[in-house]
Amino acid sequence: MHSPLIRIDFPSIYFSAGIRALLPRKMAVCTPDTRDAISRLQKSVQQRGGELYLSDLYRSHDMQLQSHLDWQAKRKVAFSPPPGGSLHEAGRSIDLDLDALKMPLADFWPLAKAEGFSPIIATPSSQLSEAWHFDHRGSHHLVYEHYVAGRGRNLKPYAAMAASAILSTGVIVDRFADNQREATIQCGLVRLGFDIGSIDGELGAKSFAALDSAGLHKSDLDATLTAVEDALQAAFPPEFEETAGPDDFVAPSHVIQ
Ligand SMILES: [Zn+2]
Repeated sequence: MHSPLIRIDFPSIYFSAGIRALLPRKMAVCTPDTRDAISRLQKSVQQRGGELYLSDLYRSHDMQLQSHLDWQAKRKVAFSPPPGGSLHEAGRSIDLDLDALKMPLADFWPLAKAEGFSPIIATPSSQLSEAWHFDHRGSHHLVYEHYVAGRGRNLKPYAAMAASAILSTGVIVDRFADNQREATIQCGLVRLGFDIGSIDGELGAKSFAALDSAGLHKSDLDATLTAVEDALQAAFPPEFEETAGPDDFVAPSHVIQ
């Protein structure tokens, strides 16, 4: 099955009638492993006297497109890439309130890293644009490393990783046009440890050799995709399973429920 997107009720930077509100429903979904990581990160920050308040999490294809158009038209200052390039579209990125952390960004980075979150900037300066953005890459980090190592050449490492994460949730990535399933299979093979070269939506000799050696080459494309997704689920169970219970998300009493 696809990597599921599940609901998360979490305190946000937004207020309703002067009371802090939960993250709006349309952006309050993420992958199970991201949800678990947010829960652990919240506890970690709270133990140090801060709070984790989110300003953004999930963006649908249409939300990302609108955000990109707003940036292009200068209605929005913060850069927003076109659909297909952001881990927000995979329910794997959080934007947070840096002030509420009540600690220097350099102190927060190790806490975030311990829970699997990567910053998107190179140095911990809260003055930089996107200092508030963190990615929970999960197994899609393997796609990033595949491209950093030069095994894939058609995309930048981050764009390839984002495409992999988005496709894994069953959402389309425009660059692969009519070859969404082929690209999803290729991303899956890279996450399973195979070198299939560039992720381009064209299943070539390397992809078929990987599918054959893993016993995932089935009679048709849909069956092959299902076999790859099953193998991914077996390899990365936290990305498919909800392990945190509802009580792990205790919103402060002043938050609207
Ligand atoms: Zn962001």
